[in-house]
Amino acid sequence: MIRTAVLGFPRMGPNRELKLALERHWAGESSPDELHAVARELRAAAWSRMREAGIDSIPSGDFSLYDQMLDTAWGLGAIPERFGRPEVDDLPAYFAMARGADEARPLEMTKWFDTNYHYLVPELRPDQAFEARPSHWVEQFEEAMAAGVPTRPVIVGPFTFLSLAKGVDRPLDLLDRLVPAYREILDALAAAGADEVQIDEPALALDHPAADLDRFERAFLDLAGNGGPKVALATYFAGLDQGTLLERLARLPIHELHLDLVRAPEQLERAVDAFAGTGARLSLGLVDGRNVWITDPDLALDRLDFAARALGHERLTIAPSCSLLHVPHQAAGEDGIDPAVRRWLAFAVERLDELALLARAATASPAERDGLLGLARERVGSRRKSSRTWDPEVRARTAGLEAEHYGRSQDYPARRAAQRARQPLPDLPTTTIGSYPQTAEIRAARRRFREGELDRAGYDRFLEGEIRRVVEFQEEIGLDVLVHGEPERNDMVEYFGQQLEGFVFSANGWVQSYGSRCVKPPILFGDVSRPAPMTVEWWRRAQAMTAKPMKGMLTGPVTILQWSFVRDDQPRRDTCTQIALAIQDEVLDLERAGAFAIQVDEAALREGLPLQRRHRDEYVRWAVDCFRLTVAPAAPDTQIHTHMCYSEFNDMMEHIVRLDADVLSIEASRSDMEVLDAFAGELSYPNEIGPGVYDIHSPRVPSADEIERLLAAAEDRIARERLWVNPDCGLKTRSWEEVRSALAAMMEAANRRRAAAPAVAGS
Ligand code: GLN
Ligand code: ZN
Repeated sequence: MIRTAVLGFPRMGPNRELKLALERHWAGESSPDELHAVARELRAAAWSRMREAGIDSIPSGDFSLYDQMLDTAWGLGAIPERFGRPEVDDLPAYFAMARGADEARPLEMTKWFDTNYHYLVPELRPDQAFEARPSHWVEQFEEAMAAGVPTRPVIVGPFTFLSLAKGVDRPLDLLDRLVPAYREILDALAAAGADEVQIDEPALALDHPAADLDRFERAFLDLAGNGGPKVALATYFAGLDQGTLLERLARLPIHELHLDLVRAPEQLERAVDAFAGTGARLSLGLVDGRNVWITDPDLALDRLDFAARALGHERLTIAPSCSLLHVPHQAAGEDGIDPAVRRWLAFAVERLDELALLARAATASPAERDGLLGLARERVGSRRKSSRTWDPEVRARTAGLEAEHYGRSQDYPARRAAQRARQPLPDLPTTTIGSYPQTAEIRAARRRFREGELDRAGYDRFLEGEIRRVVEFQEEIGLDVLVHGEPERNDMVEYFGQQLEGFVFSANGWVQSYGSRCVKPPILFGDVSRPAPMTVEWWRRAQAMTAKPMKGMLTGPVTILQWSFVRDDQPRRDTCTQIALAIQDEVLDLERAGAFAIQVDEAALREGLPLQRRHRDEYVRWAVDCFRLTVAPAAPDTQIHTHMCYSEFNDMMEHIVRLDADVLSIEASRSDMEVLDAFAGELSYPNEIGPGVYDIHSPRVPSADEIERLLAAAEDRIARERLWVNPDCGLKTRSWEEVRSALAAMMEAANRRRAAAPAVAGS
């Protein structure tokens, strides 16, 4: 029979119960037992939910108190020495790896593929030994069994684990040494009664040299071919239709291969061909695990019917495209969302019903299908035809775009001359990236305003006071280009989404970002436009407080796109173009109000890069075009800044150049300015650049000497006329005390460099 499967379920609980329990525990307000009790309840509730929905293959072991990669490192004994040799039930040591403790810095954290989920990066040594510690998986499996729910344990596979690890040059060299530990975990699960295990190998879909795929193959021959539990190999986030990968996978002794058919539907035909002659199942990821829109049942069934003709229903599984970790818990109950739009939403709980429905429809006759699918079809149809998603004015505007709308009217040298004539600046101009400390008072005032305790006028006065404090501080320490500090913004995307047409906001649509931290992405459902100015009034008030230039501060279209749940009924590029035009309206209004400098942040430009190289060029092209469109009509003497908080530019320098921002600020301090090599190299960056001179992510306050050294290192690479001096990123997570000392050191260093003879760049 056809079966349904879930690859993973959200862990936080319907009301972020896990977050609260973790934070209480970390604050010393609850014992390990109390924390474990909450976790057990959440797991039990998730399992019974899935069972009630009729899901055949229910996951266990996907639940984590912090992160699945941490669980895997922990379960393989891949624990850096600074954490000692903790027993497997040593909860403080487990959390120390995630969050740091006394002397021991935590594991690094980074984004899980192209999601907004962050995992902890395993740290390995060349002589790394592994030791199987299977209790995480065995205990959850047994716990589910005791609740009467047979489950399929889920584990991050060895290839992905190593591909994402750091500390050794070629982590995959350790694969042979790692596989026996995995075998032991599989054996322990088999001994506990597990019949099948899901091994997640999303890294398989990345680009790999042939030798690495040979290693993968050897590992899985060993893991799946030796009489242990059946192995379901799960891939997601990209397709496998490259080289002969699918054909090679079909030769492995696996029980099932899962494909993400939402991201990469085109791989289905090839997968079906490759697997037709085998006995293995294909698991069809037909329901979106990364987004929140109801599934079009006819589209899903088309794909399913196609696979069924070749393989038969008994060799098919229907599943979400990936773990449901990346969508919120439940859409029902989101009463604040316009009901017309809410009907188009499906979060994790709704996905379960979609799977069950597809499974029933799969083997039904056409007439029975009409009966089963009526409601789903009606919803999908109402979305497709809705005037809510279609704004003729927006459509006319995008249809009228021509090449000339994508570039400034003059080239950078001419713009620079105009800008310096309008606003003289010293050598090494100093500025900050936008936000100042989001203090407890700011958060309290925001909460009181939201809850009606503080009226609009009172809140306004409060914010204006905060802005004044930030402006006065900047004048006092002598910064050249000021900012207002962003106290009115709780989040750089939400702030704009709330003022744009085309977005709705959930009350409880939280998605885990890392550990106990969740984000609530805006939901972009329709055509985007800007009914009224969003930032001009605050800018005007801030500029009135100073004679120095006040930067206008906007979030760029790619970042808004990247950090929202975005409509899937048109290409992302089209949606991004609409956002670009809406932000362009704001750029022009700021300009009309008199702004000399306008910063358009694109913090997420890089993380939007497709996982596979072959798709990257197309993305970067339109992403950069959208940025260019946003700022194109700005006058030559308006200085356009952009900011990106990362430092890997080597593989995209030509695109960064094409952004053609007048000033670009980036992260650089953690690499000792080495990132500037990319900017000084062959494709050298022709405009101005502000390499972050200190790391705002750390509470450490840098000394003036240290920053001076970094500036000298920057001048070795980039001519002084093109350099700015600024921190790495916004200051909102820091305390005033830290900010005061750090910026004082930064100003001191800038002044010392100004007094010194310029270094000769390139020498
Ligand atoms: N302007 C924003 C700030 O300073 C930029 C944040 C970011 O790059 N993530 O907070
Ligand atoms: Zn940043």
